[in-house]
Amino acid sequence: MILALSLYSLALVAQLMAVIYAIYLFIISKSYRLAGGCLAIGLSLMIGRRINPIIFIWNGGEINIIDAFLAVPISGFLLLGVLQIKALLNRLEVQNFLLGQTSKIDPLTTALSRAETFSRSELEIQKSFRSKKSIAFLMADIDHFKNINDVYGHPIGDVVLTNLVKTCQMELREIDIFGRVGGEEFLIVLPETSLEKAKEVAERLRILVSENICATVQDQDIRITISVGLAMFDPLNTMDHAPSSILKDCYNACDKAMYRAKQAGRNQIST
Ligand code: GH3
Ligand code: MG
Ligand code: MG
Repeated sequence: MILALSLYSLALVAQLMAVIYAIYLFIISKSYRLAGGCLAIGLSLMIGRRINPIIFIWNGGEINIIDAFLAVPISGFLLLGVLQIKALLNRLEVQNFLLGQTSKIDPLTTALSRAETFSRSELEIQKSFRSKKSIAFLMADIDHFKNINDVYGHPIGDVVLTNLVKTCQMELREIDIFGRVGGEEFLIVLPETSLEKAKEVAERLRILVSENICATVQDQDIRITISVGLAMFDPLNTMDHAPSSILKDCYNACDKAMYRAKQAGRNQIST
């Protein structure tokens, strides 16, 4: 009787541990909560099958020693299975997180990716309807960047791009959006910013970039300039309330303004 009770008790402990891990999975898992929940419910219901024989033997019922011996590996393997699933789900959650991060950041420059830039910009447009404050959109494009690649090679071109991003990021606020939307084209979104302030920021960036040494090749300092197009969005002066079409219009407007800056001689801001 003692042996049978011990075996059933051991199985009960293993089964309880499996339930606790399954509940833990249900609580911590974001993407796989349903799996954790189903496991926790199934394993909890099975606890009755471990308690029943203990009560039965305690009340003088007939002992089935084979069933008692089988209960231990059954519950033990269930516990091991849950532990394996827990390790697997942890790994998947980490991989999902890393994947999400990679799609948000441009791997070369660490600026925001094109998709992330657009999605954050749409959020800012939505916010602007509540704050009733205008947003500035700047499109910055490096002047004659092809020459840098042709003269110094693409790896140096990459260094120049990376340094340009660092320089601009240091100058911008936490709430500003700085994204790489093309090879050497960057969209800068300045929430809650007036036209005067946006012109000031654009001019400051333009001067900083032109003064900054982007790379040094054989003691020769490489400097670049940028042309910047500026467009404004005023939530108090619009009929359109769809963030995606507003973004499209603002994107086109600042892109066109950037081309006007190029035509006007480059290294300047245009509205
Ligand atoms: P403009 O002043 O009219 O803008 O002239 P540009 O030479 O900058 O413009 P263009 O569009 O002719 O050239 C852009 C160049 O940017 C061409 C392409 O090789 C380069 N480029 C785009 N992406 C990358 C990149 O990731 N790394 C490097 N090194 N070069 C890139
Ligand atoms: Mg260019
Ligand atoms: Mg370009």
